[in-house]
Amino acid sequence: MTKHCLMVGAGLSGAVIGRLLAEAGHRVTVADARDHVAGNCHTARDAATGVMVHVYGPHIFHTDDAEVWDYVNRFATFRPYRNRVKTVSDGRVYSLPINLHTINQFFGKTLRPDEARAFIAAKADHSIAEPQSFEEQALRFVGRELYEAFFKGYTLKQWGCSPHDLPASILKRLPLRFNYDDDYFAHRFQGMPEQGYTAMVEAILDHPGISVRLQSPVARADAAGYDHVFYSGPIDGWFDYRLGRLGYRTLDFQRFTYAGDYQGCAVMNYADAAVPQTRITEHKHFAPWEDHAGSVLYREVPRACEPGDIPYYPIRLVAEKALLSDYVALAAAEPGVTFVGRLGTYRYLDMDVTIREALDCGRRYLAALAEGAPMPAFAASPL
Ligand SMILES: Cc1cc2nc3c(=O)[nH]c(=O)nc-3n(C[C@H](O)[C@H](O)[C@H](O)COP(=O)(O)OP(=O)(O)OC[C@H]3O[C@@H](n4cnc5c(N)ncnc54)[C@H](O)[C@@H]3O)c2cc1C
Repeated sequence: MTKHCLMVGAGLSGAVIGRLLAEAGHRVTVADARDHVAGNCHTARDAATGVMVHVYGPHIFHTDDAEVWDYVNRFATFRPYRNRVKTVSDGRVYSLPINLHTINQFFGKTLRPDEARAFIAAKADHSIAEPQSFEEQALRFVGRELYEAFFKGYTLKQWGCSPHDLPASILKRLPLRFNYDDDYFAHRFQGMPEQGYTAMVEAILDHPGISVRLQSPVARADAAGYDHVFYSGPIDGWFDYRLGRLGYRTLDFQRFTYAGDYQGCAVMNYADAAVPQTRITEHKHFAPWEDHAGSVLYREVPRACEPGDIPYYPIRLVAEKALLSDYVALAAAEPGVTFVGRLGTYRYLDMDVTIREALDCGRRYLAALAEGAPMPAFAASPL
């Protein structure tokens, strides 16, 4: 029997689940509070320069998931793109992620891989047996000089608290490469959609079974009348923040333009605590196959997210996780709603993981229908 489902949010989560259900013959309404589809991946051409701007911050597609890669290539032409990031530390420019070039530049050496490995091992603080914090973990892995130059200030700005107060688990592995590989991501498949992410999401939503409503915020009371709701907004927002607000970091994007090439690369990080921005992104370099004289840049400054701000990065420390479990309990008792995506499950999710989870979630719903089983509140656990 045909169902009528509501997708709250026209980002990747809502679009991919909606498409799957529409292709299975169901009716789908996709509603978004914003005036465009694609959620935070939204891209728009700047009228003055012609540059494709990543409106909510830069998005680079990278994955090892072959099905997800095939999926996005079905809806967009992808151009090869490799993210090569630089960083400014104490007035000098270095290569990221920290690799043999960075190590040799920083210490004024010409070390080969084995020599660099031994050199860094000698710098590492072996007195820390059981690192309790991000700071101790970094000191144990890379030693004080690299920690202070590349991790301390950046982390302080990004999270608004000292690395001393962040859990060691944030830095799981040795964050250094002992070769000259400066490819920011290690994934097999990487690229940029030629016409931007919004065109890709529009193509995903382009199905006769799907109707899209923009500038349409959806509240809990609006969900009645649908057979099922897939909600990709903030989980605490669905419940009117009745238990309190989950903590997020937001970003101020200070936009500026430049006649020419401002920084010669797409992403320049700023590691020093004294410089307010964590990075400057020059959007035309995300489309190296295009040629634009003018340039559009974002200076990115993180800060605590207040009501009315766009929630970007979930904080997920001890207090937030406790509040999250209370919201998860409320959600589990909410019939007819599945909480999905980065806001619905309060996790940082890359686009490929979002699409993977959306495909799995849509399939789970179809399987539940076929079996006459209930659809759970979460297809991917937020805890
Ligand atoms: C700064 C930044 C940079 C990133 N860079 C990358 C990158 O380089 N590579 C990568 O793979 N991933 C990146 N990501 C992650 C990427 O943005 C997410 O994977 C993706 O946006 C998740 O899609 P979503 O549909 O779950 O959520 P969203 O894109 O946030 O979409 C949710 C939508 O729901 C709408 N909505 C919310 N509440 C309501 C409501 N009550 N009623 C109606 N509509 C509502 C919102 O308006 C929004 O459009 C980045 C994220 C951030 C924050």
